[in-house]
Amino acid sequence: MLPGKTGEGEVIFAKLDELLNWSKRSSLWPMTFGLACCAIEMMGTYAADYDLDRLGVIPRASPRQADVMIVSGTVTYKMADRIKRLYDQMATPRYVISMGSCANCGGPYWQHGYHVVKGVDRIIPVDVYVPGCPPRPEALIGGFLKLQEKIRNEKGTPPSASVEPTDTAKKVQKTTSCA
Ligand code: SF4
Repeated sequence: MLPGKTGEGEVIFAKLDELLNWSKRSSLWPMTFGLACCAIEMMGTYAADYDLDRLGVIPRASPRQADVMIVSGTVTYKMADRIKRLYDQMATPRYVISMGSCANCGGPYWQHGYHVVKGVDRIIPVDVYVPGCPPRPEALIGGFLKLQEKIRNEKGTPPSASVEPTDTAKKVQKTTSCA
């Protein structure tokens, strides 16, 4: 996994960046947190059939011990402030996976859902979007693999999700399309 193995004496050479990236992507700990129906699929992904533990993905009950937020479900304006607060309480570097159409862009509520934020990226920065309504566990696992790939290529710079967001849910206006 790490480059530079000599083949003799079991010595491994690696750049510090690569070592840190390897440890970060091998121990992604999501916060135990769900919003709506997509959360059921997320729970199924944690269970024995799909077994996220084998990827080093182990859910934590406290945001202070977690470095991944999976936004799985409909983001209402009522919940937006809570989501932002939980995100702020998470350890850094932190990452966000937007799971499902609702979190990505408002989903079935994008046109007439006056109470729904049209994408969680209006509140917090998102690293990976997982499409579907709901996405199957395989799709969420694919999202984690994508996130691991992103972390693998980080070059000593903070991940995008650690950048302070400039927008707030209250200022969000409805968009004209739902990708
Ligand atoms: S994307 Fe579909 S399954 Fe997921 S929370 Fe929205 S309505 Fe429910």
